[in-house]
Amino acid sequence: MARSANLLHSLILLIALAPLSGCSTLKGGKLMAPEAFGWVPAGANLYVERGSDAATQRSLALAMSQAEAVIEASFGSVASRPVVHACLSEQCLADFGGQGDIAKVYGDRILLSARGANWQFIAHEWSHAEMFKRLSWRAWWRLPKWFDEGLAVALSQAPEHSEAHWQYLVSAGIARPSTTELLTLQTRHQWLEAHRLYSDNQNAERRARGEAEVHALYAAAGHQVRPWLAEAGRAGLLRLIERLNAGETFELSGAGPALR
Ligand SMILES: [Zn+2]
Repeated sequence: MARSANLLHSLILLIALAPLSGCSTLKGGKLMAPEAFGWVPAGANLYVERGSDAATQRSLALAMSQAEAVIEASFGSVASRPVVHACLSEQCLADFGGQGDIAKVYGDRILLSARGANWQFIAHEWSHAEMFKRLSWRAWWRLPKWFDEGLAVALSQAPEHSEAHWQYLVSAGIARPSTTELLTLQTRHQWLEAHRLYSDNQNAERRARGEAEVHALYAAAGHQVRPWLAEAGRAGLLRLIERLNAGETFELSGAGPALR
């Protein structure tokens, strides 16, 4: 009975958080039975593509602990227990619907590419899973996508989305969203549209041409949320979650200068 309820809950999470296309949803569904689809367990809640060596498995288990420590420090405790699946090959990533992604989250299942197999990208996706776990359904739907992403970027400290990357975009005159534009990105659909608009989805091509990657959208979200988080801290983040769960509309009190 409990198992059925858990499975139902997982399927609901999957439907709610899966990427928009039905194809990707189906592929993400394979993560519900990892050992049946070519994964080997490498630690608690951690699966690695079959064929990985012991050193890779150890380093991923360590990365998972580091990510957990970041989530605990940021939220004061860890409410979510996502299951991480690390791909080593591009084929594995494509098979599970993550082609072109560094990492992604399907409900409480995280899929990592070889480039995302580090604590920063586990922490990024874990931040999404933690917010989802702590918020009621209604509150989660009211959480703007730009904030959910900006928080994940700020907590994860991934160099790809860092303040240094933002400053590079500014100095190189590379197109990036204004604050006003960023704050209109409320839904996943709007976020994905902006992802295409700023060609953040063109990095495989840039790498093939030997050019620097561009992560304008994620860097912008991190640039907006970092000052707020620095000022509000853990207490401010927990208050925000509490207010959303109480039915209040999203508002960042004590917002940092970038949001004023
Ligand atoms: Zn994200």
